[in-house]
Amino acid sequence: MSRSNRCECSRRSFVKSLATVLPAGLVVLPLGQAYVQASATTAKHVSPSEPLASSLGYTENASTVDKAKYPTYKPGQKCGACRFFQGATGEQYGPCQIFSGEAVNVNGWCASFNAKS
Ligand code: SF4
Repeated sequence: MSRSNRCECSRRSFVKSLATVLPAGLVVLPLGQAYVQASATTAKHVSPSEPLASSLGYTENASTVDKAKYPTYKPGQKCGACRFFQGATGEQYGPCQIFSGEAVNVNGWCASFNAKS
């Protein structure tokens, strides 16, 4: 028996033993995946009034950026086009590396905008 076959048997044995010991185990695994997806989309949304957000001029709608206050803003810039945005395609909100643990609007903007390359 090759080494890879042993690994496959071990994995199969593990799953069988899990199903024997924990009959609900087969249900728990898919729920765990759903939880990870849900937690990414239900994270607290960054509020523009939070200290960090306020200092960076974060807004949920890039078209409302105060261009006099933030002259670096250029039309077309938005979170969805920023290298710090980590949201999934099609999601309205997603994680941002600047706002750890919170989600920003895909159409938002802040002064830390950095275009994806
Ligand atoms: S760093 Fe980028 S993704 Fe994060 S809030 Fe600012 S513009 Fe949006």
